[in-house]
Amino acid sequence: MSTAFGKFFLPGPTEVLPEVLAAQTRPMIGHRGPETEALLAAVSQPLRAMFRTEQPVMIATCSATGFMEAAIRCGVKKKVLCLVNGAFSQRFADIATACGREVQVAKVEPGQTFEADQVAKLVAESGADAVTMVHSESATGALNPVGELSEAIRQVADVMVLVDGVTSVGGSPVESDAWGLDFVLTGSQKALALPPGLAFGVASARLLERARALPGRGIYLDLVVYHEQIRKHQTPYTPGVSLLYALHAQVGRILASGGMEARWKRHDAMRARVERWAIEQGAALGISFLPREGRRSWTVSCLKLAHAEPNGGTIAKRMEARGFTIAPGYGKLKDSTFRIGHMGDHTVDELEVVLDNLAEVLRRG
Ligand SMILES: *Cc1c(COP(=O)(O)O)cnc(C)c1O
Repeated sequence: MSTAFGKFFLPGPTEVLPEVLAAQTRPMIGHRGPETEALLAAVSQPLRAMFRTEQPVMIATCSATGFMEAAIRCGVKKKVLCLVNGAFSQRFADIATACGREVQVAKVEPGQTFEADQVAKLVAESGADAVTMVHSESATGALNPVGELSEAIRQVADVMVLVDGVTSVGGSPVESDAWGLDFVLTGSQKALALPPGLAFGVASARLLERARALPGRGIYLDLVVYHEQIRKHQTPYTPGVSLLYALHAQVGRILASGGMEARWKRHDAMRARVERWAIEQGAALGISFLPREGRRSWTVSCLKLAHAEPNGGTIAKRMEARGFTIAPGYGKLKDSTFRIGHMGDHTVDELEVVLDNLAEVLRRG
C-alpha cells in the first residue's frame, strides 16, 4: 500500500491526512463527561461556518445515508417530490418509499441538473409537502443550483427543502441559512476528509417544528433529539469518540489554513484545472465533461468517453497499476464515464500528476 498522500482520488471516501488519522489514537473518554462536551463545543463554531448557519450542527455516528433517512422521517408529512438526476438522488426517493411516504419522482438524464422554473412548476403541481435534492450528484459530477431551486420552491408553498450536501458541504459554497434550506446533511468521509462514520446535519426552525408533530420519527434518527442535545454540546447516544478527535484536529487545520473560503477556493481551482485539461486535451484523448459548464461539481469531475475502449473500469484499473485510485462511472455510466474525486485536502499540484497519468493511460488506447 502506498503511504504518500496524493494517490487516492475516489469521490469518497477521500484521502485523510496522517496527522488527522493519528488524532484518533488518543485514549477514550466518557461520552457524558466534560471532556466530550469540551470537544463538541470546540468544533461547534467551525462546523456552523462550514454550513453557513446560525443553527447548531448535529453530529450522528452513522454514514450520511442515516441523515438522509432522518430528513425523510422528520421532514416529510405525507408526500415528497424527489428530484432525481443520479444514483444518490434516487436513494433519497427509495428511502422515502421505504419510510411509507407517497413519492413523486421527477427525473432528468444523468449529468443534467434541475432548474428553478421547472422545479417551481413541479412543486406547484405535485401537492408535495417536501422536496429532496442532491446538491453535488457524486454519481455524475453534476451540481444542482440549490440556492435558486430553494428560492423557487419557497415562493410556491410551505414545502420543506431537504438537501443532500454530501459532496458539497466543505468543498463548495453551501449557504444553509441564506438559501432557506430546511435540512442539509453531509458525511465525514467526503469533502471534510475524515474517516467514514459520522454524519452532520443542520435543520431549520420550521423543520424542527414540523418534526415535533410528526409520528414515526423512530429513535436513532430523531432530529429533534439530536438538535436538543447538540445545543448542550452533547449527543443522545455514544458518539464515535475517536472520530470526534479526528474532527477536532481537522477543523483546527481548516481554521489554520485560511478557513472555509480558502477551502472552497482550492476546490474551485481543482475543478477548473480538470476543465482546462478537458478543453486542451479532450479531443485528442477522447474525453469530455458529462455535465455542462456552470453545472459541474467542485469536488468530483465526471468525464465521458468518446470511444468504447478503454472503458471506465479499465481506466481505473490502469491507474491503480500506477498507484492512483480513481473511480469508474457509477451504475449505468460505469463503462462510458470515469470520475476523479478531487476533494478534501487534495491540491491542484497533486491533481496535475493524476491528469498526466490519465493522459498516458488514455493515449495508449
Ligand atoms: C457518498 C454519498 C452518499 C452516501 O454516503 P454514505 O456515507 O455512504 O451513506 C450520499 N450522497 C452523496 C451525494 C454521496 O456522494
